[in-house]
Amino acid sequence: MIDLRSDTVTQPTEAMRAAMARADVGDDVYGEDPTVLELQERVAGLLGHEAALFTPTGSMANVLAVRSLVAPGQEVLCEASAHIARAELGAHGAYNGVTMRTWVHPRGQVDLPMIQGMFAPELGPFFVRTAAISVENTHNFAGGAVLPLEDLRDLREYAVGAGAAVHLDGARIWNAHVATGTPLAEYGAVVDVIAVCLSKGLGAPVGSLMVGSRDAIDEARIWRKRMGGGMRQVGVLAAAGLHALDHHVERLADDHAHARLLAEACGVDPATVDTNIVVVARQDAADFVVRAAEAGVRVAVVGPTVVRLVTHLGVTRDDAERAAKVLSAL
Ligand SMILES: *Cc1c(COP(=O)(O)O)cnc(C)c1O
Repeated sequence: MIDLRSDTVTQPTEAMRAAMARADVGDDVYGEDPTVLELQERVAGLLGHEAALFTPTGSMANVLAVRSLVAPGQEVLCEASAHIARAELGAHGAYNGVTMRTWVHPRGQVDLPMIQGMFAPELGPFFVRTAAISVENTHNFAGGAVLPLEDLRDLREYAVGAGAAVHLDGARIWNAHVATGTPLAEYGAVVDVIAVCLSKGLGAPVGSLMVGSRDAIDEARIWRKRMGGGMRQVGVLAAAGLHALDHHVERLADDHAHARLLAEACGVDPATVDTNIVVVARQDAADFVVRAAEAGVRVAVVGPTVVRLVTHLGVTRDDAERAAKVLSAL
């Protein structure tokens, strides 16, 4: 079975398991796990920020990150199919009293005129105030689309002038970095807080980080514990993340090549596939998924007429070619 449902289905490699087994650990609620500290420092450095906080999931990193910018009763603006709006089960409202309004872009991009039109400055005690704008790079439900750095710079300039902060859901910022060659720190420089995942294309079994200023991270550490996310000898998991950063970033280029190959097989223009996700419009999405599975390829339904294929560490060139044959026959 070739599993293209998500890049979360990866299994830790033998080398990653070995790195986990020999990790130095301590109680991370006391701030004493050396491997966690190393991972946090490393990821903060890569993105050019002061500090980072290890979290069990990307959703928790996003909830803590948005919370650091938006007070209860204020709002964050984001694209309509953003993970924070669509796939976190209302966590930002349920936990933190954050409200959201969304703009729509078929490729998940920044639409500055729309954002400017929606933006709500402080107008006294009558209206919701926009405290932050959130972007997702790469954009998951828009098919792994990359947000160009130029657009993010323009957004940053506008946000600073308007008195709002910028949040980046960078679950797959690694893919954007590899696809464009843009240094991670340049993405980091145009936002206030970032969430990144180690458990998607990087292939770690668990783990994400919130990245930002020292103050924001100190505060998030309290909220992480409050939410039940204080973890103890978690260096075994941080070691998987460090191993992934050493060995699984540059190889994402292979996933991107495999995705273009699959796109072509599914009648999708490979030029529209920026990274490792292919979105295929199918009226018969549910049926297509069943027939693909019968033929040995698992794909996902992410909307009534939308099928998604995701390439990752566990899909070799050979697998991608075999899957392409199966899918093109369907
Ligand atoms: C996967 C993902 C997350 C975090 O998901 P978890 O399953 O909570 O780790 C956040 N944002 C995007 C865009 C994602 O794809």
